[in-house]
Amino acid sequence: MLNNYAETELREGTLFSKKYNDYYSSKKDALSESTYVFLEKNNLIQRWLNLPENKDLFTIGEVGFGGGINFLNCCKKWLELDLKNKRLAYFATEKMPLKLDDMKILHGFYESLNAASNELLDTYPKLTEGFNLIELFNGKVQLCLIFDDAEIGFSQLIQSKQNSNTSYFESFDCWFLDGFSPNLNPSAWSSNLLKQVARLSSKHTTLSSFSAASKLQKTLAENGFNVSICKGFGGKRSMITASYKDNHNISPYVNPLGWHVEKYTPTRFKKKQNITIIGGGITGCLTAVALKKRGFNITILDQHGDVAIEASGNNRAVLYPRLSAHSSSLADLNMIALQFASNYYKKFWEEECGQQCGVLVLPKSNTEEKIFHNISLRYGRNENFFELLYNKTLKKIAGLNLSAECGLFFPTLGWLSIPKICKNLIREFDIPIISSKADGLRFIASENSWEILNERKKIVNTAHKLVIANSHAAKVFNETSFLSIKKLRGQISQFESNSFSKNLKCVVCAEGYITPSFENSHVCGATYNHNNDFTYTRQVDHESNLKKIFKIDSLFHEFSKNLKPEDINGRVGFRGTTRDYLPFTGAVPDFTKMKNDFDYLRDDAKKVTQQTGSYLPNLYVNCGMGSRGLTYAPLCAEILASEISNQIPPIPKRIRLDIHPARFIIRDIKKKRI
Ligand SMILES: Cc1cc2nc3c(=O)[nH]c(=O)nc-3n(C[C@H](O)[C@H](O)[C@H](O)COP(=O)(O)OP(=O)(O)OC[C@H]3O[C@@H](n4cnc5c(N)ncnc54)[C@H](O)[C@@H]3O)c2cc1C
Repeated sequence: MLNNYAETELREGTLFSKKYNDYYSSKKDALSESTYVFLEKNNLIQRWLNLPENKDLFTIGEVGFGGGINFLNCCKKWLELDLKNKRLAYFATEKMPLKLDDMKILHGFYESLNAASNELLDTYPKLTEGFNLIELFNGKVQLCLIFDDAEIGFSQLIQSKQNSNTSYFESFDCWFLDGFSPNLNPSAWSSNLLKQVARLSSKHTTLSSFSAASKLQKTLAENGFNVSICKGFGGKRSMITASYKDNHNISPYVNPLGWHVEKYTPTRFKKKQNITIIGGGITGCLTAVALKKRGFNITILDQHGDVAIEASGNNRAVLYPRLSAHSSSLADLNMIALQFASNYYKKFWEEECGQQCGVLVLPKSNTEEKIFHNISLRYGRNENFFELLYNKTLKKIAGLNLSAECGLFFPTLGWLSIPKICKNLIREFDIPIISSKADGLRFIASENSWEILNERKKIVNTAHKLVIANSHAAKVFNETSFLSIKKLRGQISQFESNSFSKNLKCVVCAEGYITPSFENSHVCGATYNHNNDFTYTRQVDHESNLKKIFKIDSLFHEFSKNLKPEDINGRVGFRGTTRDYLPFTGAVPDFTKMKNDFDYLRDDAKKVTQQTGSYLPNLYVNCGMGSRGLTYAPLCAEILASEISNQIPPIPKRIRLDIHPARFIIRDIKKKRI
């Protein structure tokens, strides 16, 4: 839990931090100060207007998000310019975030920021330590808000052998140093932090700060910045502007055992290329959209010639939460993914692709009840994200006389029709679909492109880059046949609602789940049938689904009281699940080469070397969403699209490695499994 959210009070018409004994924003005209110190001194408007055609992203880093005034000011100006096919990425750290109510009070002083403020307040994340990713203004702005110490936060973005000379990823374009004053808050200005800032910078990067402290000038210079002093805002004597020196010799961040390190490719402002996505499920569609937003020419190739036909054909999929009382790969990915997804799908709920009715998770046992309490302690009070409810409130929320003592309620989640989402997106982003079953891939080195072959070895499509997003069927390609991904059958059951069952107001989950009545029916599910390829629905699976909801609470018997077997419909789908239940998202490794290069780990799993991984050119994979495609697909699409565009993925590197397609090669060599 983030215990250290900001303690504030109102003083002299603005918000005052008790801890830092300082104001959140200038008492006099904070907006003009923000414009002067950060926008004007980094020449942002001119730079935005002159963005090269093939640079679609402008990245700002801010130390000290505070009340978000600089962010809102940037958003306002950025949106006013209405630049076509350009996006603003804003990474900000804040060790002591403001509570939502305090943020509202502060924003209330700046009427001209109202429109931008409303959108931020609407999506403002839970106050939980770590990364929070939010898309705003219809995807025109992406905010990665890191509630952590700035040095820790930014260091998690450094991906590989990264400095301005060797980076695979585009650097930050601009930095705002806006922490509380260096005397009061030294960690926001430390040499170690500025080293991370430098590692994420290149010769195009500029920086500004209201401070002109001589120590800051010195540390910036030591870390490769050309520093200038200019007149400060209003009555202030001076402030700092700086630009990063080309080829400054800062030690790159080197990962020992860099199996995930990409080969250096000169990337800046590359021409946008054709990308084909194999697979038109939710993973393929959302990846297509994330790449299209970045200016690539996208085609989807699916064996059905349409989208959302297989696992993604589910018309009532639930956006499930999966929290944990402790940090783990699965829990941390789920937390970021869930928050990102719940914002991402807002527009689809508005378009009536489902119901944002809330999801109530009930404990399956006494032990789980305790875990729920620990989860609640870990995350603290975050009513806008979830709340631990007790029996009386829980009954009211569910609309039913449930007997559970407690439950976790997520008001911003619900269910969605995946086919509606996919179809709406394909239409909106005008993405063509080719109908063909891919059976093989061939890289043509002379053309630097890939050919997709059908079962008769005929070329059905050619593209500069490919994304394999065909779930468990990724194994059909030689290039990805090594991936540990399994086909896992599942069945959902749908039956008519009755006057009693219509009282259910939200999705209720435990081992199984049930959705509230919609168009006179409920859906419950789902089965997990290993080693089973039956494509038709089975009565035994309907019974199993009903049993699961009866186990949640005996009153669910009333839901299916007079049902005959023939009254229950459903559908079957096949999930693609991985060994650790985490997706595979990233560049496709060259399995044979990596197996040879890292063979030494077989004898000494802890041996540290500078060996880097090997990856197939321009080939990527995004699959293995398991039973959480709705939750994972938006974030994984964003991560992959960032990677393909050489943009820094907006997640901690640890999570990127947790979902990396090469992770099992290394683990399996160490365990002598391969
Ligand atoms: C019964 C059931 C219930 C579920 N309920 C939920 C839920 O409530 N919430 C949730 O989040 N998740 C749920 N899931 C999981 C979710 O449906 C999946 O995680 C998600 O749909 C996976 O999407 P995908 O795009 O990766 O795969 P898919 O939707 O399977 O898409 C893969 C696509 O690739 C195409 N393809 C395959 N091979 C080839 C080829 N060789 N050439 C061309 N095209 C090819 C297929 O035609 C298909 O369109 C459920 C799954 C099942 C089975």
